[in-house]
Amino acid sequence: MPSQKSWPELNGRNALITGSTSGIGWGLARALAEQGVHVTLNGLVQDQREFQRTHVEALAAECGVRVRYSGADLANPSQIQSMMQEHVAEFGGLDILINNAGIQHVSPVENFPPEKWDQILAINLSSNFHTLRAAIPVMKRQGRGRLVQIASVHGLVASPFKSAYVAAKHAVIGLTKAVALELADTPITCNAICPGYVRTPLVEGQIDQQARAHGLPPEQVVRDVILAAQPRKEFIEVDDLAQLCLFVCSDAGKTMTGAALNMDGGWTAR
Ligand code: NAD
Repeated sequence: MPSQKSWPELNGRNALITGSTSGIGWGLARALAEQGVHVTLNGLVQDQREFQRTHVEALAAECGVRVRYSGADLANPSQIQSMMQEHVAEFGGLDILINNAGIQHVSPVENFPPEKWDQILAINLSSNFHTLRAAIPVMKRQGRGRLVQIASVHGLVASPFKSAYVAAKHAVIGLTKAVALELADTPITCNAICPGYVRTPLVEGQIDQQARAHGLPPEQVVRDVILAAQPRKEFIEVDDLAQLCLFVCSDAGKTMTGAALNMDGGWTAR
């Protein structure tokens, strides 16, 4: 167990992080657990028993916190409802909700499969509405809470061929602002974090796809395609995003609400 906690007020709190079986969500869950936060992990895994052993039990043992796993499919509102109810029943409330799950599909809009559009809107946007809707009454009863959406720079600016993702992420920021205003007279904050490119399985998939499409080596795709719009020319680290998220969840973040916080290597400064 880490001996020094940077945010002692988080010790003993609980968090539900969607899409936390890999990538950014897993990094955020780890960072919260290291601060003594009990967590519900969520996401799609191939082998649930293996994941239970390698992630759920391992994280609990390493950080000395309670860790649960929910396999709720975020495209299904009734499964979201059950996941939220189970978390509250298990931990006696909900202190931190992180809407992180997201998927991508890259295609010109005229070829964009309508079923992919629906799936991206359901997972990247509507799931946030369903979790927020369930979380807010619980947080109001407690008199505290932190709501965090992992949006994207694509919630602030667009790139071609990502129509559904860009539309969903812009809407997530709009949803974040509306909810922040609704909660402005409560101690509950609602913010969005907008990363530039982070090297996770979601981005590895895009590197492979672009390398095949353009007949280029993956390193060249990273340099000339993926990081072309990111002036700093290096991927954002999950650990750095996690520090930003911990700040938002801390007591020091109490008056930060309705914000879209970008960590994007200078992307949106252009
Ligand atoms: P990832 O592919 O590594 O992880 C996605 C997570 O979402 C996984 O846990 C997966 O199981 C889960 N998930 C997908 N569909 C689901 C469903 N139907 N039900 C439940 N869980 C589901 O992706 P990542 O790169 O870590 O992305 C996390 C978030 O960060 C996403 O919202 C993404 O849009 C955003 N983001 C990523 C980047 C980046 O460069 N990686 C940049 C900006 C924003």
